Amino acid sequence: ILIVEDLWKSYGNHIVLKGISFNVREGETKVIIGPSGSGKSTLLRCINLLIKPDRGSIVFDGIDITKLKSNISEIRSRIGFVFQHFNLFNHLTALDNVALGLIKVKRKSRSEAYNIAKEALLSVGITEDLWHKYPSQLSGGQQQRVAIARAIAMEPKIILFDEPTSALDPELVSEVLNVMENLSRKGMTMIVVTHEIGFAIKVADEIMFMDNGVIIERGDPRSIIFNPKNERVKKFMEKLL
Ligand code: ATP
Ligand code: MG
Repeated sequence: ILIVEDLWKSYGNHIVLKGISFNVREGETKVIIGPSGSGKSTLLRCINLLIKPDRGSIVFDGIDITKLKSNISEIRSRIGFVFQHFNLFNHLTALDNVALGLIKVKRKSRSEAYNIAKEALLSVGITEDLWHKYPSQLSGGQQQRVAIARAIAMEPKIILFDEPTSALDPELVSEVLNVMENLSRKGMTMIVVTHEIGFAIKVADEIMFMDNGVIIERGDPRSIIFNPKNERVKKFMEKLL
């Protein structure tokens, strides 16, 4: 469903992505791990068309989306994105946050949009008593689950998660990871940047370890976490475990 090939991106003379290639098959969950500044967010942003790579291709559903001139918002609506800092609209309630894209981008009627939104919220455990609350009245874990509901409601073909739990208090992390685990089990295709090792072991089909703009090691979760070949990966994992 996604074929990333030889992706390069620089800012000025700083090369952030140095020839990244990988595929994601339908239903697969890929986890990306790597130190700060290694280019993980830049990679996700390229896939979501938030930034344009300098070189390489990203074929999504048979179309090279780096060459797209029009239809960008239509393609983007099929690629969900969940951010570290939730990125909900603070002046909208939980329910309105989820319904907005359905009305504006997917051109659903209000009643249809709200029905889908409610269902999406229930699927991430956000019950009716919370639907009319504003983000500031919700816990971080609840806000992030609303953000996931917003992504799900659009029926994307893939969801990209950029460190979705790293801004959360420790006791709220698991409620968000559980929602993500369920999504993965239901067959959602996902790319997840996270340092949550337990999640990666349970859910990832493959871990890719990024360092300095390069995928330096990749493979099944247990071998990358417990038995990495690369010294850099070994050092990093020792700190995480
Ligand atoms: P973290 O774990 O801290 O989120 P990351 O792996 O997501 O790190 P990126 O955010 O992709 O890393 O950034 C990679 C490098 O690119 C960093 O050195 C960063 O300073 C640089 N960078 C990112 N965005 C920009 C930008 N808009 N302009 C200039 N440099 C940028
Ligand atoms: Mg990042």
